[in-house]
Amino acid sequence: MANDYAPWDDDFRNLSRRMRARVRDVAGGRVETHTALPLQGCGHFGTEAALRSFLAPGQKILIPQTGQYAERMTRLAREAGRETVPLPVDRNHPASPELIAAALAADRTITHVGLVYSETSTGTIQNAPAIGEIVRAAGRRMILDAVSAFGALPLDVSAQPEIDAVIFTSNKCLEGLPGLCWIVARHDNLLPLGSAGSYSLDLADIHTLAQRDDGGSFRFTPPAQTLAALETAMDFHAAEGGTPARLARYQENARVLYRGMVRLGLQPCLDEADQGPIVVNIHAPPDPSWSLPNFVAALRQRGFVISNFYNTTAPSFRVGCIGHVTPNDMERFVAAVDAALIEIGISQRR
Ligand SMILES: *Cc1c(COP(=O)(O)O)cnc(C)c1O
Repeated sequence: MANDYAPWDDDFRNLSRRMRARVRDVAGGRVETHTALPLQGCGHFGTEAALRSFLAPGQKILIPQTGQYAERMTRLAREAGRETVPLPVDRNHPASPELIAAALAADRTITHVGLVYSETSTGTIQNAPAIGEIVRAAGRRMILDAVSAFGALPLDVSAQPEIDAVIFTSNKCLEGLPGLCWIVARHDNLLPLGSAGSYSLDLADIHTLAQRDDGGSFRFTPPAQTLAALETAMDFHAAEGGTPARLARYQENARVLYRGMVRLGLQPCLDEADQGPIVVNIHAPPDPSWSLPNFVAALRQRGFVISNFYNTTAPSFRVGCIGHVTPNDMERFVAAVDAALIEIGISQRR
């Protein structure tokens, strides 16, 4: 990251080319059908770009309302002038593929399904392969938000030809730095140049430039240091054993955390069978002394930083299991939670 880069210089162009090929390969993409398109910014920008570049204005997308990120995808599509069909689902369990099949059968004008693979607001993992199979059988297309999934949860875009676009960022399960998102896209299915209705978010435009110089250039100023850091992060990812090994570590992190919370007398929001390995929400203790800011501050003094907000309906606190964190760190965290609860005066824990 301390290296300076000129975006037009061969050092940077070769880095860009290497990373695009590498990201496409990790997604299972084939060069004949898939391309990895980098876009400056955060994950929402990538989701909006994918929606705009694969759904023509007026086309209709079914979005199972698995949580906050599904709601945001719905809003991004709606405000881009695409028609949305929000499908209510039980947020405490992965959405049932049959429900999605029925919704598609009931409305033949739905062209796409938008799915959040790992719903970071609730901690559930959706059955993306099974839902994809239904989308494929129904002759529709899929946009997959894999922002908190990619690099840990299994994904092979070549085995799921119904997927037009998978969106993720460099800073979640890839454990890189923020500032860059990726869309692994079916280039054979991109809408024509200009259809996105946004020059900044037109993936066809990004793809056109990539074709011209073999993926060496970004259209506008690239987050060069973030891209360079991602190469190192992906070296660590490979050295760990790739996606399966990363998933195994996160699963163990989540298991130690989940069981530790239960041992302390706290109540996780999901049943253990529905609990994904990315983020765990735990019900706030019903004790009148409970204060999330005080709890967060008491943990912070012990060397742990967790969110100072929650996004479940009932009050809770949320803990991430991803990043450069091990089961041993999780054990230490459980002990810190116990001490923090005592410090802020909680006697009733569930
Ligand atoms: C983090 C995340 C995003 C994107 O968030 P940004 O803050 O825009 O990077 C999108 N979807 C899911 C499921 C996420 O976890």
